[in-house]
Amino acid sequence: MLIDTEALKRLDLKAFFFDMDGVLFDSMPNHAKAWCTAFEALGIPFSSYDAYMREGMTGASTIYQAFTRHLGRDASEEECQRIYKVKCDIFESLPVAKPIPQVLEVLQTVKQAGLEIFIVTGSGQHSLFDRLNTHFPDIFCREKMVTAYDVKKGKPDPEPYLMALKKGGFEAHQAIVVENAPLGVKSAVAAEIFTIAVNTGILKDEDLSVHGAGVVYHNMGELLAELPEIIRTAKR
Ligand code: MG
Repeated sequence: MLIDTEALKRLDLKAFFFDMDGVLFDSMPNHAKAWCTAFEALGIPFSSYDAYMREGMTGASTIYQAFTRHLGRDASEEECQRIYKVKCDIFESLPVAKPIPQVLEVLQTVKQAGLEIFIVTGSGQHSLFDRLNTHFPDIFCREKMVTAYDVKKGKPDPEPYLMALKKGGFEAHQAIVVENAPLGVKSAVAAEIFTIAVNTGILKDEDLSVHGAGVVYHNMGELLAELPEIIRTAKR
């Protein structure tokens, strides 16, 4: 899929909004493993692909959906909390996720172009927030982040991306989003922001393009290669 150059030309680019899981950190294999193991203990079939497709959804929604689909009933509040705790405990016990290869170079290219950088994530994982400065020195600051603690609805609702626009004082055509998840793309596109999908996991490209991504890359290296031209085209 080629990037939508005409759409890029209509932008007045001032900022990049980066998702965190699967974009900055390779944390999705751990999330998927934690979900699969937590549901397996209950006899509920749940694959890695199911986990990747639901990335960004709240833990409660993921659990409610799996219950309705496989047990034909809603999970109780108590079940929901218990299963989510199991999932989080498993996640925390797994080896810490490494940065996605070449994302540092992507961030540096954006910064050197004089553009602002925000993180927009549904995550509330302090283990990852704490490591941002270690892996990506002088790139991020707390004022330029929207996390699980800031929003009510979360992705796929446009709320997180709209909040980032508001925080930065940007209009939708002044930002580009980098996402790896179908619901993240849906959220960003609903906020009317040009969205670059990078398929860093096990999804099909169509899972991302179907929600309106302006392009789908297969890794950060592909984005890095085209990034200077993207910025030249989108910046006034
Ligand atoms: Mg993600």
